Amino acid sequence: MVNEQEKKFQLGRRNFLKAGAGAAALGVATALKAPTIVAGAVGESVKYAPGAKGQWSKLHPVHDMGSATIRFVEHNDQWLGTSKIIGPIKNPSEYDGGFEQIAAGKVSQRGQLGLYNMNTKDPFGSAIIMGAGMVAGFLEGIPAPKKMEIPDPEQMSQHIKDVAYFLRADDVGIGRMPSYAYYGTKCIYPPFPGRQYVEFTREQLVRPVTERLPYAIVVMIDQHLETMLASTGYDAISISQSFRGYHATGVIAAIMAQYIRNLGYNARANYAVDYNGVMPPVIIAAGLGELSRTGDCTIHPRLGFRHKVAAVTTDLPLAPDKPIDFGLLDFCRVCKKCAENCPAGAINTDSDMGQYNGYLRWNNDTNKCAEFRASNEDGVCCGRCMKVCPWNSKEESWFHQAGTWIGSKSETSSKLLKSIDDMFGYGTETVDKYKWWLEWPELYKLPPVSILTEPLPPDPIFSALGKDKH
Ligand code: SF4
Ligand code: SF4
Repeated sequence: MVNEQEKKFQLGRRNFLKAGAGAAALGVATALKAPTIVAGAVGESVKYAPGAKGQWSKLHPVHDMGSATIRFVEHNDQWLGTSKIIGPIKNPSEYDGGFEQIAAGKVSQRGQLGLYNMNTKDPFGSAIIMGAGMVAGFLEGIPAPKKMEIPDPEQMSQHIKDVAYFLRADDVGIGRMPSYAYYGTKCIYPPFPGRQYVEFTREQLVRPVTERLPYAIVVMIDQHLETMLASTGYDAISISQSFRGYHATGVIAAIMAQYIRNLGYNARANYAVDYNGVMPPVIIAAGLGELSRTGDCTIHPRLGFRHKVAAVTTDLPLAPDKPIDFGLLDFCRVCKKCAENCPAGAINTDSDMGQYNGYLRWNNDTNKCAEFRASNEDGVCCGRCMKVCPWNSKEESWFHQAGTWIGSKSETSSKLLKSIDDMFGYGTETVDKYKWWLEWPELYKLPPVSILTEPLPPDPIFSALGKDKH
């Protein structure tokens, strides 16, 4: 049975096909021109009908935040979302990051050796890392000389969100770019040193970041629910899950940045291969999460921290979103599930947060985490904390939705959700029916110490990522 609506659609399609065939027959197919955007006419020359005021976007009129209760909060010099600012925040150096400290030889020989052998440990993982590097040369550029007029920043924001969803983002938000999220200095990875344990100084590895653009469009990709359910969180698929997110967000951000430059505005794509800043404050500013117990990862109310992001920094006129509060800090205070399950013991178990670079957070041992991920001999990398977190949705069940609704209410209800989550073994189970990838455990072991001094050929993947170039 064809209903009225389907009939109309079929008729419309038939007429369209007939018109195309007729035009071709008359040799006038070129009369059917693709629409073009011209200055001062967004919404006119392309027949673009803006969404209603207040809509998230046309493709997603309502922002999907799952079942959590969301409150919008301010972004000022005392708060970034629910993170309390207590003093000046210094622009960080990428050099102080866990993997950068490992690469620079500041943590351990085991970590550095593991990092330089990580790409050979998993045939699929190294292929997907190669994929993630493919857009590294397309992150920045010079804007078109003529600026298109943007009469309504809110309409442009809706449109930009539609662009992200059309390019297959799982979520997108727009934030005021916190100036302290920019790196003061970013890292240039060391030239490949062979398997010798080599130390590099800060001066050898850093260069300053001077960009300061007012907005950040944050593009988020889900790391894949079924894969996460089947994984232990630190087996072979872990690195591929990460780089699936890096690859997808990188491609989307690079295209969006180029689109914005084509409109005559400055835009720079930032993704895992080449960030100009740290992402957690940018995610918070864009209303896509709160800072979690892990210290430097944010949690999204629908995706937990089963996500990766890229950000397009820009001066395109936009209407930024507000940071959100869904009760995560109260939840993390009582939950501690990530800390209990971290194989490296890297996550803080204190009830209260401590100070870090001018704001409050739970301070963790990023070097311990990075060393474990680099030298893991049960798989490649790690995302165990992501897997076990109760906010990492456990299939799209009413039960999980009810749980996150309860969990976002108060500290007492957080205890309830955590107990239910534990009782059902959520997060710690591996669901074998979803396991689709192959494993070669014999490749996971670190090379024997006897080959530590042998020279190593240049790593094609690190070279492709531009990480070994000064
Ligand atoms: S990624 Fe793994 S090692 Fe690092 S904090 Fe999470 S659980 Fe711990
Ligand atoms: S596992 Fe629990 S404590 Fe850890 S980040 Fe998730 S909610 Fe917070």
